[in-house]
This record gives sequence, C-alpha cells and structure tokens, in this order.
Amino acid sequence: MSDSENPALGHARFRENLEFLSRNLRFSWHKPTWDLFARLDPAVWRRTQHNPVCLLQELGEAALEERAQDSMLVAVAAELAEALRAYLEGGGTWFERTHAGSDLLVAYFSAEFAVTECLHIFSGGLGVLAGDHLKSASDLGVPLVAVGLLYREGYFEQQVDAAGVQREAYPAMEFERLPLTLEQHANGTPLLVPFPFRDHQGLARVWRADVGRVPLYLLDTDLPARPPEERRITDRLYGGDAEHRLQQEIVLGIGGMRALAALGIAPTTIHLNEGHAAFAGVERVQQATGAEHTALAETAGRFAQDVVFTTHTPVPAGHDFFPAELLKRYLGGYVWEMGAPWERFLALGRHDGTDECESFNMTLLALRLSSRRNGVSRLHGEVSRRMWRGVWDDLEEPEVPIGHITNGVHLATWVAPPMAALYDRHIGREWRDETDQVRWQRAAHVLGHELWAVRSAQRARLIEVARRELTEQLRRRGEPADWACDVLDPDVLTIVYARRFATYKRATLLLSQPERLRRLLTSWDRPVQFIFAGKAHPRDEPGKENLRQIHAWSSDPRVRRHFVFLEGYDVELARSLVSGADVWLNVPRRPYEASGTSGMKAAANGALNLSIPDGWWAEAWAEHNHLAEPPGWSIEAPQHWAEGQDEEDANALFELLEHDVIPLFYERDLRAIPNRWCERMRATMRELVPFFNTHRMVQQYTEAFYLRAGGMPGRTHAHGASEEVAAAG
Ligand SMILES: *Cc1c(COP(=O)(O)O)cnc(C)c1O
Repeated sequence: MSDSENPALGHARFRENLEFLSRNLRFSWHKPTWDLFARLDPAVWRRTQHNPVCLLQELGEAALEERAQDSMLVAVAAELAEALRAYLEGGGTWFERTHAGSDLLVAYFSAEFAVTECLHIFSGGLGVLAGDHLKSASDLGVPLVAVGLLYREGYFEQQVDAAGVQREAYPAMEFERLPLTLEQHANGTPLLVPFPFRDHQGLARVWRADVGRVPLYLLDTDLPARPPEERRITDRLYGGDAEHRLQQEIVLGIGGMRALAALGIAPTTIHLNEGHAAFAGVERVQQATGAEHTALAETAGRFAQDVVFTTHTPVPAGHDFFPAELLKRYLGGYVWEMGAPWERFLALGRHDGTDECESFNMTLLALRLSSRRNGVSRLHGEVSRRMWRGVWDDLEEPEVPIGHITNGVHLATWVAPPMAALYDRHIGREWRDETDQVRWQRAAHVLGHELWAVRSAQRARLIEVARRELTEQLRRRGEPADWACDVLDPDVLTIVYARRFATYKRATLLLSQPERLRRLLTSWDRPVQFIFAGKAHPRDEPGKENLRQIHAWSSDPRVRRHFVFLEGYDVELARSLVSGADVWLNVPRRPYEASGTSGMKAAANGALNLSIPDGWWAEAWAEHNHLAEPPGWSIEAPQHWAEGQDEEDANALFELLEHDVIPLFYERDLRAIPNRWCERMRATMRELVPFFNTHRMVQQYTEAFYLRAGGMPGRTHAHGASEEVAAAG
C-alpha cells in the first residue's frame, strides 16, 4: 500500500523527512529546503530565527498533520530529503575528482562560527568566514571536521535607546531546541572531555552541528553537576577578562583536540583559524608524544609540519596576550606533565625569552607551532610579514614564511534569489558548486534591462525590510513610528555601510562634513540615501560613541528619511543589506582591514564597491582598475594612515560621490537604464565574483596547505599549488 493510500503512514513519513531536513544546517544555503520550512508557517519560521527544529516543535503534531494534507508539500519534503541524502553521500565532488585516494582529514579550529542566524556563536567577520569555510568544504567534498565552543549566551543582541546608547541583551540559547546533537557514548551517557582548569580537570560536553557533510563539534562547559566557575567558561563570546578568555582558549584548543580523540577522529592536518585555538598545537604534541616526556620546544617543530595557521588582523586588540603567572596557574601542571620545562613553554609565546615581564602571545605560539601560515589578503600578507619578522630574525622581510590566501564568501549563502535566478540563466546552475573563471565571463552578455530589473527588485526588497525593522525598533523604544513606513525611496541610489563599529573603520567619516552630506541626502534631482548597521564591542567606548553619532543623524527629522540606522546587525540583516545595496561603502584606516568580506557579498549581488584600497579591495582594484568601467571605485589613500589623513580621505570620498558615483547612477538611457553603471555591475560579476568566494579559497587552502602540510605517511601530493601562497612555508 502506498503512502497516499495510508494517511497515517504518509504523515509519519512526512514528519520523518522534515525532522531529517531540520537536523542538517544545509538548509541555510539550500533555498528549496529553506522555502519548505517557510511554507510550513512563515510567522513562526521568522520568529524562531529560522530554526527548523524549533519550528517543528512549535507547530506540534496537529499542525503537521494538517500540513500533511497538502500532497504537494509532502512530495516536496520527500524529494528534498532524498536530495539531502544524495548530497551527504557525496560522489563527484571536486575533491573526489582531483584528489582521489588521499587520506586527508583536516580539523579546523575557530572561536566563532556563523553558519546561520539561530546559532549565534559569532561576533563578526571571523565567524562568518569560518562558517563559509565549512560550507564550501562541504560542497567541494574536502574531508574536514570543525571544532568550536557553544556559548550559552552567544554574542550580544543589540538594541539602541532613544539617546543612541547601545544596550546589550544576552538571551540564553536552549541547546535542545537547536539543530544540535549531543555526542554520547554507546550506553547513552554524554561524552565528557577533560581540560586543565587551575589545579584540577574541568569537564566539557560536546554537541555536533551538521553543516552539510562537515561535522562541527562544539564544546560546552555548562554542565549542571559542575562548579559555577567552570560552567561559566562558555557563557559568552569575547565577554570576559583575560582570565576568562584564557579558560575559553584552553577548552577550545586542548579540550577540542581531546574531543576529537574521544570521538575516534584522527586529523592529519590542523587548521588554526586565528590564534585563539593555538593550544590545539600544544595538545597535538602532547597526544603524539604521550608518555615519552620529550621536551616540548624540540618536538614542537616536528609537529608543526601538520599545522596551518591563519592570522586575521593587524589590529593589536585582535591578538591575545596572557600574563605569565596567569598562564602558569592554569597550565603549569599540564606542561609539567608533558615533561617540558616551564620556561621553554613560555618562550614559545614570547618575542624575547629573557624578558620576565613579557606577556604570552597566542599569535606567536601559533606561528611557532605551525608550518603553513597566511594572512587573509595580499596586502595583509605583507603587513603580517612586517609585523612578525622578529620571529625569524635571520630572515629578510620578504622571506618571512607567512603567505596569503585571500578570503572569500560562500556564494550560495549570500546571493539573493533574484540574482541567483539570473546566474542560473546566464552563468549556469553550476555556479553554486564550483568556481570557474571562464564560465563567469558569460556575465558580459547579460542585458542591461534584465540586470537592472534584478537590481531594482533587490533594492526594493531591502527597503521593505528596512521600513519593517525601523518600525519595530521605534515601537520597542516607545517612540512614534508612523514616519518609518515610508522612509527611503526604492528609486534612489542606496549606499550601505554595515560592519562592526571599531574606530579604525571610521563609520563617521561622512559626518565630518555635515553640510555637504545634507546636500547629497536632500538633493531634489539626484538624491542619495544611506543605511547604516553595526554593533560596537560592549567595552569599546569610542566605537559606541561613533554609533551614537550615526544614530543622532538617523533621528534628525531633516534627514531621517534618507539616513537610516538599523539595529542588530547579524547574518539575517546582512543578507538583506548586501542584496539590496547599490553601493557598498568601506572606509577603514589603511592597512587595518585585513580583508573584509561584506563587500564581496555585496559584489556577488551586483553592488559596486566604494572603498579605501585596503584588505581584499586593494588587490581587487589593482587588478581591474584598467577597465573602462571598473567594478567600483577606490578612494585613494596612502599606504599608511597618519594623523590628519581622515580629513583628506573624507574629501576624496565626497569628491567621488559628487563627481562619479551619483552622476553615473542617474545617467539613464531612453528606457531609464543606467548603461555605464550596468557595465560596472558586469565587470563585478565577471572579475570579482569568480575569485572572491570561499570555493576558490578552500581549494587554495587544500592544494597549497592542507595536502602539503606535514609528511605524515600515506599523504598524496598536491599539484598546481598557486603562486599566491608561494611565500608560505
Ligand atoms: C560578512 C559579515 C561581517 C564581516 O564583514 P566585514 O566586511 O569584515 O565587516 C560581519 N558581520 C556580519 C553579520 C557579516 O555578515
């Protein structure tokens, strides 16, 4: 008897298929699955922050039974479950085709991961990059597992009060209501992992999130039976003081390696995404040498063969330093058990082994425990070689063994549906699976009216979202919200600035010339409108002051219709912003933006970048500025920011807006299409999208680093390693 003849059976199968689909985070980049969940109940889907597990729990049996009457819906669920099964089985992936027979298994460590909005264990770009890395590894079939921490309260939720003061809320996540699986022993007891905690061992449990084919293991110390000071370790991301940070990094690095061992996973290569996880390199030595009690400093070099380290920022606050006595309180016993003299261990994290006062630097540790090292853009590679040349005092700066692999974004996650449909038609559906520079040349033939229709649709959609969000945020503050329903104009040039409010990013650069800005906003014939969003770190007072100033503009009745600030910048809001922007604005003090990735997301949606040539934009611009219509604009700035430079950069920015960007947007043909603007969009798609994505990035990591790192037995050899990373190792 078929399911359709037996309603009870049909319902059970429907439910089973939904459960199966809800348990894999692939829904976050597989649009048909996403749409299926949305169709079950759009309101609940949105309210649960697109959490399918929570959605099914909230709908309950009765509602699902009712949905099971819809035979189309049932058929779609069955089809999608089948498709997910096929995806998980793999077959024909890039890795399988190009590196068959390899025994590679990468363990990727990161303090944050942004995979999708319901799992908020990230603060910004580093987490988004890590999440996109996993998705591309999954799509490409690269054998990779990931390790991170499961923070009970994640990073904060932002609200801004009427005076522009940021309020931070920390709602606790209920792990049982998330797409997570608790790792257990065969007898059903949770797997517990010990880690050094002062003079004893702490314990963490392990949750697994399935990111397509990639398992992401998340450690959680919030165990009811443990003492409060242990339970607090994984409470918040970047929330505490140095001691709290140290505790977290011990759990991540040492606990993380032990978790893998307990799960029977033996990686051939370790990738440290930023210095936070550098203790993993130490634990690797410990596990490999075991009771041999060899001196760490001598052995470390040997094991560094298998370790890849990516450094992510030239900003000093981005690097962790721990006082030596604090470190000793936590790791003294651990290092003693390894048989390593304490001073030798300390020296791994210090520039100068003889300076008693020098703090222990996690970036130095990671540099010394790895053999393949990189910055995240060409310029950042250079800056990193200069920053860390002291580690190799016998080498000239260009020889310092730190290369670069430029960051990317996961296209299927970030391209909005109208643009994705356009790519399907013109580039071919394969754009999701693989990067192929040649295929993307087809973007040259997309007609202006088609391109412009997509651009306009996505801009209109963003403006709808902005009005809705603004209305909600005004209501929350108890302010009149009636004016919010018609802010912004779907036909007006829309410039978005969205990123963390770190002062080096200069969110307020435009505000330095208020009259000039007001003229642009209120021009009767060629107006501009701005949308701002971003969080300031809870302890970054100057960053919060920047936010306050932006907020003040967005509340000024003279300009508030054209200058909007949206609270709660997260991946959901980011998707709307990058899809709807005409221009993506970035004005960091050079060279502090190591890469930046939001501009790549915008580019993938056809936005034009207007940016200081820092991070990724420095190389994007250098390669393509010769085009008659290049893929955006560069605000020329000297190599190194110095006092007084802000004013010059503001002038250059206004000049570009007034003389280039705005006139080009409003230069229309008889059908109201801005042809030269469209040509710049095509240049963006042809030249930027096929390179600035994580499929290309993960392929580079795989061929130049993962497969070449180490000399562990049974390793196949990579071919075609790119010159981009030749400086590394
Ligand atoms: C992409 C993204 C970032 C990083 O973008 P930058 O260009 O590095 O600022 C930060 N936060 C969110 C929510 C993002 O989606």
